[in-house]
Amino acid sequence: MRYITYSSTMKQTKDAIQFFFIGMFFLLFLTVSCARPATEPVSHSELLLGTICRLTIYDNPSQTAFDQAFETIAHIEQLMSAHLNDSEIALINAKAGIESVPVSSQTFFVIKTALEAATVSSGAFDPTIGPLVAAWGIGSDNPRKPSQEEINRLLPLEGYQKVSLDEKTQSVFLQEQGMMLDLGGIAKGYAADEVAKVLRANGVEKAIINLGGNVLVIGSRLDNTPWRIGIQNPEAERGGYIGIVDLIDKTLVTSGPYERFFVFEDEMYHHIIDTKNGYPVKNGLSSVSIITTKSIEADALSTAVYSLGLEKGMALIESLEGVEAVFVDSQKQIYLSEGLKKGRVSFTLSDTAFTIASTL
Ligand code: ADP
Ligand code: MG
Repeated sequence: MRYITYSSTMKQTKDAIQFFFIGMFFLLFLTVSCARPATEPVSHSELLLGTICRLTIYDNPSQTAFDQAFETIAHIEQLMSAHLNDSEIALINAKAGIESVPVSSQTFFVIKTALEAATVSSGAFDPTIGPLVAAWGIGSDNPRKPSQEEINRLLPLEGYQKVSLDEKTQSVFLQEQGMMLDLGGIAKGYAADEVAKVLRANGVEKAIINLGGNVLVIGSRLDNTPWRIGIQNPEAERGGYIGIVDLIDKTLVTSGPYERFFVFEDEMYHHIIDTKNGYPVKNGLSSVSIITTKSIEADALSTAVYSLGLEKGMALIESLEGVEAVFVDSQKQIYLSEGLKKGRVSFTLSDTAFTIASTL
């Protein structure tokens, strides 16, 4: 009995030791598996909206999330592309000067936001730039330099004040025949916002949406530190950065001549049109990057502010709440908006060939 008792105590001790080690093992396993990401990040890319759309999910990737996200972008392209004959934009353009066209709430919202961007930028951003964009063949396989007569003829077709929106019927009317909308400067930003909604609805809280350089980050990194997003060196091949910004739940959108251009008789012609003269904007800026929360606003603003130039563009940025900007000029000078200077959004210079200018 004693022996048995003794032996049972021994067994209990042995069991306790065994239990302790198994427990420790599980604790160790738990610690290790918590420290490492639950899953590896998963990226998928598709060619949509005339660019490479790359989505990277870090915390909760699923085929459904990717499928729904890319379907969302494809749908936006189908509705808003000026290049597709049966898009809502093509329909609005075909009915210019004839009748108003009822559209989806999505297209209506993007046009309305584009008109707001036109108003705040005094027309430097103007979605009625369509006829000039088409004449220059921007984004097409056959870009060309239109004659001065052609530009003179097309300029009067421009004018965001000549777009009528009817909230009740969600319809759009271009008041003059020949007018054409072009949402190339804003649609990618809208698409990024919509993709973020879709991913979040699929339980994604940590992801990077990159629609041809139009970046929107969801949440923070897995260790809860900000995402570190590079601002492209406008003079280098894709891949080089001038600096890094730290972002949580924010968007970074860059506009610059290097993104899309063609060369004709030794002159470079790029894709952002000066709404005053119908020629590609020439103002010594190499790029403008906008940092804010909504990608649709960042996209419209990046085009608008690039077009406005350094002084007027910076003044516009400083007048807006929660919007920051990084300007780069052809002299390799970098100009930061107040919030970046004060560190409200962190900017780290990563290419010493560039200098942060102290004044405008
Ligand atoms: P990307 O689309 O290459 O990222 P942007 O966002 O700056 O660059 O948009 C440029 C596009 O916007 C052009 O390809 C054209 O479709 C359109 N666009 C060009 N000039 C203007 C302008 N002044 N206002 C509004 N849209 C413009
Ligand atoms: Mg833009």
